[in-house]
Amino acid sequence: MRLIDHHIVGGTAGATGRRSPVLNPSAGEVQAEVALGDAALLERAVAAALAAQPAWAATNPQRRARVMFEFKRLVEANMQELAELLASEHGKVIADAKGDIQRGLDVIEFACGVPHLLKGEYTQGAGPGIDVYSMRQPIGIGAGITPFNFPAMIPMWMFGVAIVCGNAFILKPSERDPSVPVRLCELMLEAGAPEGILQCVHGDKEMVDAILDHPAIGAISFVGSSDIANYVYERGARNGKRVQAMGGAKNHGIVMPDADMDQVVRDLSGAAFGSAGERCMALPVVVPVGEGTAERLIEKLLPEIESLRLGISSDPDAHYGPVVTGDHKARVEGWIAKCEAEGGKILVDGRGFTLQGHEKGFFVGPTLIDHVTPDMESYKNEIFGPVLQIVRAPDFEAALALPSKHQYGNGVAIFTRNGHAAREFAARVNVGMVGINVPIPVPVAYHTFGGWKRSAFGDTNQHGMEGIKFWTKIKTITAKWPDGSLDGGNAFIIPTMA
Ligand code: NAD
Repeated sequence: MRLIDHHIVGGTAGATGRRSPVLNPSAGEVQAEVALGDAALLERAVAAALAAQPAWAATNPQRRARVMFEFKRLVEANMQELAELLASEHGKVIADAKGDIQRGLDVIEFACGVPHLLKGEYTQGAGPGIDVYSMRQPIGIGAGITPFNFPAMIPMWMFGVAIVCGNAFILKPSERDPSVPVRLCELMLEAGAPEGILQCVHGDKEMVDAILDHPAIGAISFVGSSDIANYVYERGARNGKRVQAMGGAKNHGIVMPDADMDQVVRDLSGAAFGSAGERCMALPVVVPVGEGTAERLIEKLLPEIESLRLGISSDPDAHYGPVVTGDHKARVEGWIAKCEAEGGKILVDGRGFTLQGHEKGFFVGPTLIDHVTPDMESYKNEIFGPVLQIVRAPDFEAALALPSKHQYGNGVAIFTRNGHAAREFAARVNVGMVGINVPIPVPVAYHTFGGWKRSAFGDTNQHGMEGIKFWTKIKTITAKWPDGSLDGGNAFIIPTMA
């Protein structure tokens, strides 16, 4: 059986440990095994990171940026191979896998601007003969713990910014699709990053706990489900670390009566069913405002869903592929059954779907459920599959209240031609990222990504200036140079400008 090993300085000779199967979701079969590391293995990676980081931090930012330029070139040159590898372990179709990689590369492109981004502030003459200035310095060693659903983009969100700021970085990717993260580490080395600056350790809770408890790791970025995000945030913070921990989501799309319904239906089907619904910025809830809007929406949605084509991840004509594991397929189908038992009306049922020739693949057909209400468990929780729930709202205020009161607050979208309604919605909704006629409002790399409520723990977002802030410490210097005159006497009160 092929082994997907850790990528650490000096290799893994002598390391022992458990292994975990890596599946091919399209075939429903085990295709490899991934090594699961422990605290002893992490210790090796930390030692290498500690050895490499000071010289890297002392390398001027322009040179660090040049490594990022070269890394970007190498990833682009290897795009097809990376996308095929990613799709084979995740199950998303290859065109979508390329999107996963490209959105990560956008952050690398942002990181190339680090000489400008790291410039500090300066005030000449803040007091008599006194200048004040600030500098941003790396944390030292950062770690990233990432989910299965974006095995290229999310690691690059983290290490792209962390490394270019002068940190060493240890990545702990999802054990379900670990190959692309390893390839990214290899390409970073090829791009000119010194050994030890980007390493990859695999593992499950045992490795995550070792990271959370390691005294030499100063900052941890996590993306995954909310309960684990909460746990990582609490344990990491208790150990004195800086932690940002992004969690789950249940994003709503509000459809106002004046929306362009043809556009809404096209946008919704991609946002609800693309990547089999396994996106933290998917739109699994649609909220038509008014009964007439609901009827028009359903009338157009049904044929759109009918036209969706499922396929294996390498099928160029497939709209989406399998979900990630057999367990996850069972969980998604369980939520559909639960929603039905709670009173939801199933309009399209994706349970029991099999793809001819790939009967063991983890496919779930597109599912549409009407008359879902906020008290249902299947509404309150994240399903993370190709399931679209319709929650009817009588008016704008009722629609606004739904995402605002939901436990998750990652993304939300409003579809309307009414500028005032859109403006009002964006200002008042209790959610971190808002789309106006944009179904998946993932901000571009030089802005910042992060949800609210149980979708994010900690107070700093991913990438953009927030990322630069997360991966650096600010130091502020107040300086006065002696001019030979003994001005003033001893000061026993705090200096003021009064
Ligand atoms: P997950 O929480 O199962 O796993 C995430 C990471 O945590 C993995 O590296 C995994 O190895 C580790 N982990 C798993 N169980 C653990 C435990 N008990 N203790 C410590 N670590 C543990 O998430 P997933 O299924 O890989 O990813 C899907 C989830 O991620 C969804 O909830 C999705 O909404 C969320 N997500 C959120 C965002 C965001 O930015 N908010 C982005 C992508 C995905």
